[in-house]
Amino acid sequence: MTDSPVVLDGMQAPSRPRRRPETEVVLYSLVLAVVAATATLAIPDVWSPTRPAGWWLVVLVAVGFGLSERTIFHLEFDRQAIGFSVSEVPTAIALVFLAPGPAIGARLVGSAIVLVVLRKTPLYKLLFNLALFTLELVLSFIVLRGFLALVGDTDAEVVIAAIVAMVVASLLGSVLVSIAISMFEGSMLERITSELRVAWWLFVVNSTLAGMTLALALMAPALTLLAVVPVGAMWYLIQRYGIVNQRLRDLDAVHGFTGRVGQSLDPAEIMDAAVVETASLLRADSASLIVFDVNGSPMTRSIGSVGVRLPIAPDDPSWADLIAGDEARLIDGKGLRKFGLDTRSPSAELLASSVKDGADPIGLLVVAGRSGAAHRFGSDDVVRLQNLAEQLASSLGKGLLHQRMEREARQDPLTGLPNRAAFEQKVAQVAKDRNHAGVRFVMMLDLDRFKEVNDTLGHHAGDELLIEFARRIAQHKGRFDVLARLAGDEFALVGYRASEAEMNTFAEHLLAEAARPVTLDGLELVVTASIGIAVIDDHVDTAIAIRRADIATFNAKTQRLGIETYRDEIDRRTPARLSMLGDLRTAIEHEDLRLHYQPKLDLSTGIVIGAEALVRWTHAVRGAVPAADFVRVAEDTGLIKQLTDTMLSKGIEDLRRFHDRGFHLGLSVNLSTHDLLDTRLPERVQRYLQASNVDPAMLTLEITESALLIDAPRSRATINDLHAIGVRMSIDDFGTGYSSLSYLRQLPVAELKIDQSFIANVLIDEQDEVIVRSTIELGHNLGLEVVAEGVENNEILEQLRRFGCDVAQGFCISRPLAANHFMSWLQATGHPSRNQDPLDANVWVTEQKPPVR
Ligand code: C2E
Ligand code: CA
Ligand code: CA
Repeated sequence: MTDSPVVLDGMQAPSRPRRRPETEVVLYSLVLAVVAATATLAIPDVWSPTRPAGWWLVVLVAVGFGLSERTIFHLEFDRQAIGFSVSEVPTAIALVFLAPGPAIGARLVGSAIVLVVLRKTPLYKLLFNLALFTLELVLSFIVLRGFLALVGDTDAEVVIAAIVAMVVASLLGSVLVSIAISMFEGSMLERITSELRVAWWLFVVNSTLAGMTLALALMAPALTLLAVVPVGAMWYLIQRYGIVNQRLRDLDAVHGFTGRVGQSLDPAEIMDAAVVETASLLRADSASLIVFDVNGSPMTRSIGSVGVRLPIAPDDPSWADLIAGDEARLIDGKGLRKFGLDTRSPSAELLASSVKDGADPIGLLVVAGRSGAAHRFGSDDVVRLQNLAEQLASSLGKGLLHQRMEREARQDPLTGLPNRAAFEQKVAQVAKDRNHAGVRFVMMLDLDRFKEVNDTLGHHAGDELLIEFARRIAQHKGRFDVLARLAGDEFALVGYRASEAEMNTFAEHLLAEAARPVTLDGLELVVTASIGIAVIDDHVDTAIAIRRADIATFNAKTQRLGIETYRDEIDRRTPARLSMLGDLRTAIEHEDLRLHYQPKLDLSTGIVIGAEALVRWTHAVRGAVPAADFVRVAEDTGLIKQLTDTMLSKGIEDLRRFHDRGFHLGLSVNLSTHDLLDTRLPERVQRYLQASNVDPAMLTLEITESALLIDAPRSRATINDLHAIGVRMSIDDFGTGYSSLSYLRQLPVAELKIDQSFIANVLIDEQDEVIVRSTIELGHNLGLEVVAEGVENNEILEQLRRFGCDVAQGFCISRPLAANHFMSWLQATGHPSRNQDPLDANVWVTEQKPPVR
């Protein structure tokens, strides 16, 4: 027969009905009890059995009912939890050898003892079960006796009648249980039909087995013992089947959990998903996840209320043991009082598991309130929670690492101050704020003898000096000022003051503060500083403001002024930068800039699929100037527009030559922040492409992460326009900026270039390895092609190939080469397309690696 307590275990969290479902179940049980009592009276010969037996059989049957109640387990078929017990065996015996009265008594006493003493079933459920059992048994008697009256009562007829009676009663029982469950969960009809559909065969099998036992008993009571073997075997086999099935389902669930929880890199999103999933997988009303942050307040996410005071640190006295331990635990009412749970309900209990990243606890996962009637967690739930906590740990670990990376990317590790990138963003914000009545300014602070300190006293003393300097300035800055460390001994501050006079007083104050003696290594030193100030007005953008403050500082320093405020005249007098600027302008005009090409190697096929164009400039006096240096000057002065145009037009012309020679390659060109603010760039790019008859899909434009943040809407419009003409976009130096993933996801980007600083140490630094691997995974999840740059040796190349990286670029493949050398190199390394018909080659290349959009 279908046994209700187990089936009720399958209940999900109650959706709020008008009346409490427990009350409804009690009323329902009373109705069933009345029906059962009335029906009992309708049975003829309530006190005489079909086949008489000794009184001792009543005790034996009661024990049999108790035993079958005790050995109940539940199976899940088609998402329905079906209780399985062998109660049909004592039922069959009782039907035939006992009178209805004693049989009902045995049923009630045997089951009640187990339910009350061993199961501690709550009252409403006990009531329901007892009413249900009685009704089932009474119905069996009515069917049996009706059948016998119709066909006669030979032993064979008795056995058949008993089987029919039990099947009918089981079907009725199943319907009644479905109705009770629907009081918690609704959808009654659906529940009834689906349970009957799933479980009918169990009723037939059980009843037939019980009928066979009965047949043996009718032949000779001792033969009944023979039935122990098949009944026991059946019970065992079905239970094993259920366990294996449950394990498979658990695996499935855990797998799905990781998939759903691990989709994000944002710890808050991961936590939200985790509590919802955990509560649902463990069929609990409430779940809480708390994550301890090393340097901050803990984060908590909950659904429902677990009713306990959660720890705020891993060493919280009541929780420390559990958090340090490796195993999930089930905590009962007594244990809960220790954690300060208000235990009004005697059956309250909760499951808790530490979430550990390696040996370090990063959080705690707590689940409470098992839904439905059984409302108890079992040992398998403990294992399940532990599994979930382990899966969660790896997703959460990744998310926290990412968060830390994002934070660190904006912070100077030595002083904890914002770094250049964060500072630029702040200046941009201040520059946009036009509502302020007073003055807005950027102030650059530079220590005068820092290099001396560093060289004579060592780096350690140098670091200490920087930290002390930062501390002093931070103490005196205004509430809305932002202080940052840009590089070495270069600090900067952006802020507001009511007037220029106030701004100047503030600067003098800082200068005096900096000049107070510092004790380093027991030595008292006086280190002075120079300050350059640039006022921000409506015509000055971030880059210009910072450059002007820089120029003012240069002046303050070289002329020992202490403080200098930028004016246009001093710009013209600043020598070093100015000479470079003039020369660069001439170099661009005279077409003295050269292009070098560095191959991009497809790691899956080993074929060169493209090249990055890098600018080269040899100064008449200075010799080769590093690209990064003069590109920066070009950016600061607006010359970058011409520089980028040169790279694009010459690069595309060269690409035409490569194609004509049969090398079907793509070309990558670097763009600067300022290029993205130029809304006419897409138009020019298109012109160059058309002039050389080059497919736009062959051109990739690389933009750095930080470029995306300056004037985002305008840059985005340019990016979208470039995408619209068919050009691929790539994010360069990925990992060094602080672009949020959600932002990247919105951009029409085809490629992600992992910054070389991570690639260089990928073999030796575990953290870099994690970053590289997760960036590759992340890129692929977003549908991007992932490029590794700065690959300096074959070991790294092999590792990247193993990690599934798509493309590599670096000295170990080739240094950047002038166009002619590059072509010779391609020829010498046997680039495949040179041996083929150019058309074929083209098809072949695109088929191998379709351009990712
Ligand atoms: P980037 O775009 O990240 O370019 C890669 C840089 O890494 C290049 O330096 C390249 O020579 C170097 N490199 C390539 N393979 C390796 C390697 O295996 N190991 C090491 N250590 N370095 C490698 P380069 O040419 O000096 O350029 C430096 C930066 O200057 C570029 O970084 C880019 O930001 C900028 N730049 C260069 N050319 C242009 C240009 O035409 N336009 C713009 N806007 N910026 C450019
Ligand atoms: Ca680049
Ligand atoms: Ca790069």
